[in-house]
Amino acid sequence: MAAALALAVLSAPAVAEDARRVTQIGGVEYVGFDAVCQRHALGGLEKLSGRTTSGHPQEVPVFSPVGFSGGAVALERDDYFRLAGPAGRLVFRVDSRQFFFNDARHWLSFPLRKAEEGGLVISRIDAEALLDVLLRGRGAVAGRKFEGVVIDAGHGGSNRGAVGRNGVAEKTATLATARELKRMLEAAGVSVAMTRASDRYVDLDARGHFANRYKNHLFVSIHYNMGRSTSHGVETYALTPQGAASTGADGKPSRRDQVRYPGNEFGAESLLLADMVQRELCEHHSPEGDRGVKWARFEVLRDTRMPAILVEAGFLSHPVDAALIATEGYRTKVAAAVARGVSKFMGMMGAEPGAPAGAQLAATPPVPGGTMIPNPQPHEIPSAESMTRTPTHATGKTLNR
Ligand SMILES: [Zn+2]
Repeated sequence: MAAALALAVLSAPAVAEDARRVTQIGGVEYVGFDAVCQRHALGGLEKLSGRTTSGHPQEVPVFSPVGFSGGAVALERDDYFRLAGPAGRLVFRVDSRQFFFNDARHWLSFPLRKAEEGGLVISRIDAEALLDVLLRGRGAVAGRKFEGVVIDAGHGGSNRGAVGRNGVAEKTATLATARELKRMLEAAGVSVAMTRASDRYVDLDARGHFANRYKNHLFVSIHYNMGRSTSHGVETYALTPQGAASTGADGKPSRRDQVRYPGNEFGAESLLLADMVQRELCEHHSPEGDRGVKWARFEVLRDTRMPAILVEAGFLSHPVDAALIATEGYRTKVAAAVARGVSKFMGMMGAEPGAPAGAQLAATPPVPGGTMIPNPQPHEIPSAESMTRTPTHATGKTLNR
């Protein structure tokens, strides 16, 4: 059927023209999904069963092909389907924001929808700022060498951040993780600066100003999460692009979405960095623990003039996550995962632009000075619940999403 879809797209200029047409749905600009498929040579459309077994809201369904003779036009509401192309595999669901790119969870800003005429449409901003960037990989960004990382340990001093029921304060866990990350990156020959190296209070705007003094650096903010007692796992944030809704907005556009921040200049780099770091973090979790790459307008991401991400590396509100976060072993795994993601990103950015899209997923670029970054030692976290809910934060006010 995939071939049928690809053929229909390639042989019918009317379809291609139609796909370029912009339609408004709920105040959001949508474009034909066919155009995205055509641009990235995505084909082989298969309808999937998307069977779930545990009922866990963070569950990754079992994706098995089901007998299906139609193309995209024949897909119905809530159907899962898979496409493949040179950059890898994509699984989408009609009327959903969630999708999987090479098995990693991602979130559209607005749901993929069926148009009235029957074809699929996607929001223009998701097509341009998310799918185009993920699918083009290195081809989506100008080459640039990065020399170092500004590590931002979340909270500090009078701002404790989240506090687990086991008494672990977020500010303490983030500092310990940041110090370990610094040690690993420096051992790998990467220059490191820290917004705080001790238990002290640092204003959010001061963190951005501090980071902006460093040229050719990346910005990585380390946090631990707070939510329902059953929410667990890891998520990595990049700054929401201008015109997109943050992941926590549940697909609802707002006027604030139109504001452009300094960090938006580095949107493509930040998204690719987030994807690479999140993939590494997920090495330590069950599939449910991959909460995905998300968009938010956190102050530290808005103000930093460099590729910037914010990592939420587990839930202090979840009993198992909190017990892990209390251990040096887990924090070391988090630091190592971030270090590996950062190294892969730096390696990709230093590579020739002709490198194939998606090569960043497999490549293990040489790290100057030889790497000291340990390989992942996966552990399993029991299934729990809650991803439909907006991730909350103990100090949402200070994070100012
Ligand atoms: Zn925090």
